[in-house]
Amino acid sequence: MANTFELPNFVKNRPRTRIVCTIGPATASATMVERLVRNGMSVARLNLSHGSRADHEGFVATVRQVAEKLGVSIGILADLPGPKYRVGVMDGPALQLQRGEDFTLFARVRKGTSEGVNVWPVGLHSDVKAGAKILLDEGKVELRVMEVVGRDIHCRVTRGGELRDNKAVTAPGHTSTLDYFTDETTSALDFALDADVDFIGLSYIRGIEDLERVQERVKAAKRSCLLVSKIEIKQAVDNLNSILDASDAVMVARGDLGVELPIEMVPGVQKRIIRRANERGKPVITATQMLESMIENSTPTRAEATDVHNAVRDGTDAIMLSGETSVGRNPARVVQYMARIAKRAEKFLDLDEIADRRQAYTHAQDHGVGDAIAYSAVVAGEDIKAKVILAFTESGATPARVAAFRPSLPVLSLSPDPAVGRRLSLRWGVIPIIVDVYDTVQDMFFAGSEMVLQLGLARETDRAVAVVGMPIGIGGTTNLLRVITLPEPKSNVRRRSTR
Ligand code: PGA
Ligand code: MN
Repeated sequence: MANTFELPNFVKNRPRTRIVCTIGPATASATMVERLVRNGMSVARLNLSHGSRADHEGFVATVRQVAEKLGVSIGILADLPGPKYRVGVMDGPALQLQRGEDFTLFARVRKGTSEGVNVWPVGLHSDVKAGAKILLDEGKVELRVMEVVGRDIHCRVTRGGELRDNKAVTAPGHTSTLDYFTDETTSALDFALDADVDFIGLSYIRGIEDLERVQERVKAAKRSCLLVSKIEIKQAVDNLNSILDASDAVMVARGDLGVELPIEMVPGVQKRIIRRANERGKPVITATQMLESMIENSTPTRAEATDVHNAVRDGTDAIMLSGETSVGRNPARVVQYMARIAKRAEKFLDLDEIADRRQAYTHAQDHGVGDAIAYSAVVAGEDIKAKVILAFTESGATPARVAAFRPSLPVLSLSPDPAVGRRLSLRWGVIPIIVDVYDTVQDMFFAGSEMVLQLGLARETDRAVAVVGMPIGIGGTTNLLRVITLPEPKSNVRRRSTR
């Protein structure tokens, strides 16, 4: 049977660093989503702290429809609100707080006035003591705690400014004692599980206990989505290694990190998270304010271009856009800039350094056969000047293992399961392709050979490296490495009857 394989040029030409775009009012239409995909988006993110359930259902349907139309694997990441305090409703549009004034944070629901505001969910009074600093709206207003009386927190304004309802309330360095599952988080998780998204983003996780509780619910719902732990508070930074080991992926959530930690700590923490994720072979997303000025402007600042470039060279798997694509003036253009900057930065990316560190880590951890085969495929492919690595997979594990060694060659993931393709959409350098189910490895090699020739990724007499798990049909194994000189001949040896 002759197969026809197609790979749109926009997929062939996009950077190897993945681009995550937050979908919002500015990108709700299929036309806009298609432009994002064509310009380089491979994961669409829904921020479940904003918008209605109906909005998000609409975004999911639109992204799936566009992915189907274009024939590409687009992952959906649904970000849960997590245990976060917020300002309750106000008696009017906004409050103006002046330095030196008294201001109270009330646990009971009452309309905000110049005397104070309600903070919800209830619990902040047990997290802070007199002397603590509290930031409202990411530090636009700053308070000092004078006294905690029952559940009311009496404060003094140390930096004045405007305050609106629903803004975040943060006590930097003070861990919240809230249950991970606030009402908001529970209903957001229910939505994500119902919608069968590919990734769930865990906001404000403190340690693996929070993660395990989400894992239990995912398992109970019989879903196989991947969990992305957002590193955004000090406690998560302190627990980084255990969180990384238990998570499927992580996010450097610089928006909240910049409030929770002194701002000068953020660049170093970004590099540390990326490095440790790379060592463990876990995908890492670098997020927030990457091209922030383009929410309004038509070009990025020099500093933003440099930031995207540096994140790529730090070794991030993915780079994320938030307001730039959800509410910005020109989302499609922002993605275009991001892709251009990332692609240029990849020319300077030290692949060997990341691969060597990953190799040293797997060696020390005694990871065994799968990683050894994946590493060997990368080294052999480069040595023999192969044009492509073909990673055949049931579960997605084989291409993920290969990508963790940052090959200079393109990695095609060949899987019959579209969900596997979508879950690989966050992996640096992997091109997911949905294929038939093959009965034999020889069928795989033949189909792989046909594919790379048809896609123009290699020519006859070129070589390809194939990585497979055998026996076929059992997920998670990676144990066979084969070099194919193109074209692989179609096997004409008939299998003899056993009778
Ligand atoms: P958020 O997370 O956009 O959901 O706040 C990312 C961050 O904090 O950087
Ligand atoms: Mn955040």
